[in-house]
Formats: sequence, C-alpha cells, structure tokens
Amino acid sequence: MKILTFDIEDWFHILDNPSTKTIRDWSNYPSRINEGMDHIFDILEKHKAGATFFMLGWIAKKHPHILREIDNMGYEVGSHTHMHQLIYEQDKVSFKRDVEKSIKTIEDLIGKKVKYFRAPGFSIIDKNKWAFEVLYELGIEIDCSVFPANRAHGGMPNFKSSLPSIIKYNNVSIKEFPINATKILGNQLIFSGGGYFRLFPYFLINHWTKKSNYIMTYFHPRDFDFEQPVLRDLPIKRLFKSYVGLKKTKNKLDKWVNDFKFVSLNEADELTDWGKVPVIKLDS
Ligand SMILES: [Zn+2]
Repeated sequence: MKILTFDIEDWFHILDNPSTKTIRDWSNYPSRINEGMDHIFDILEKHKAGATFFMLGWIAKKHPHILREIDNMGYEVGSHTHMHQLIYEQDKVSFKRDVEKSIKTIEDLIGKKVKYFRAPGFSIIDKNKWAFEVLYELGIEIDCSVFPANRAHGGMPNFKSSLPSIIKYNNVSIKEFPINATKILGNQLIFSGGGYFRLFPYFLINHWTKKSNYIMTYFHPRDFDFEQPVLRDLPIKRLFKSYVGLKKTKNKLDKWVNDFKFVSLNEADELTDWGKVPVIKLDS
C-alpha cells in the first residue's frame, strides 16, 4: 500500500527559523501557493492518482479557492493545524484551540467532516503524546504525524512500528499511518518526502519502493516550486535540505506515480485490516 499525501502550506512556512515564525513574519513574503499547487494538480490529473491533503487552516482561510479546488476534484482534506507551530512548544490548551480553528475553517468552507491530521514538522514526540488525546477529542480518526526515526523538529525514534498501527494513549485510541522508515545498511532511511525524496535519484527511490510493502509520502507545494525565493538566513545544512533538487521533483513524482499505484487515506483505511495491525501502547 502506497499513500500519497500533501501538506498544504506556503514556501515560507519553515519551522524553527526566526524570520518565518509568526504571522507578522509571513506578511513579509509574497505567496507562491498557486505555483506549487499547479504542479501538484498537473500530476494528479494526469495519473488520476488517489491522494489526501493536509491543509493549514490559515491557508484555507487566505486562499479558499485552493481548498475548494481540492474538494471539487474529489480529494479528501485533513488538518495540518491552523498556524503551523511546533506542537512540543505549545501546551495542551493552545494546541487544541489551534487545531479546532483549522477544523472549523475547513469544515465551514467545504461542508465535510475533517477526520485526518498531520502535525507540522512531525512534532508529536515523547513529551507531548497528549496530542493524541486532543486529536481524539476533536474527532480526528486517523493521524499521520508519527515519524519513527530521529528528525530535526520531531520524530518518535522509540515508536515500535513503521506500518499502519493503532495507538493507545490513556483511554483513547487512534489509527496511525506513520511515515515508512526503511532499514538500509543498518540505518533507518526515509525517502518518501521532503528533502530526502528530492536528494535521492529516481532509480534508488524506485528500487526501495519495490522492496517496501508500505509507503507513506509527505510532499509540499514548495517541493515543486523551483522559482521560490531562497531564505538566506537558514543555516547551511538546512539551506541544502530545503532547496536541493527542486527542479527535478515534479518529474520524479510524475514517474513514481506512473510506476506505482498510490491511494488516498480513505482508500488506505479500507484496505487495512485494523484487527491485525500492531497496537502501540504509549505511556502517559
Ligand atoms: Zn508543514
């Protein structure tokens, strides 16, 4: 099973960086969301692939035509929070308020229930597992926030599964489609989105995909927008990771979606026998 997902945010929604942190910072930059979305829509229309979109509430409010276009094309929409802040920097109350706002904004615009969620920067980590409780309370049925490896702004390296799982935390349970971590030469390697997908040549991605039973992707409009401005204040390592391979991403994803069948979260949910998946009990 291969699941295609996109996190819908603008090119300047870069986490943990002083010049792109707040709404006031964002107003310094021109939007390029339409440019990025055009590339994504081109690929999806060409291959009629299944996909799910995790939308920032802030984007839905500012660019409602994008949300409507996604919905009109028959794609499902989940929440990526409203204001794209790291969850481990928030408390439970402010996190709940922010996600609730995004859900309401999306539901008011398309009239459909929001059931899916992904955290900005995969920022549900060991110390803020209460986020799963909040998501459950807000009616989220499927979460895609677990990155079962080390990562700059999140990740749960102790999460015992990189396959669909049921998470149990306190008295709640939630379906989880984590990012797939593939063991290559003894290291956990992630190749299904972001800088990693852009960095590796297609023949390797193709090779690793053939060896994987389960793939969860995560793309952003900016991954395809090779004309976006460069944030010069990023540290050199992040500059590389943020801008490597932008010109080739569209072509690479086009080939990938052509060579393999990708599905949406709704289809993945139906394909999964939830009685047989690992149950991951998280300590509270
Ligand atoms: Zn994001």
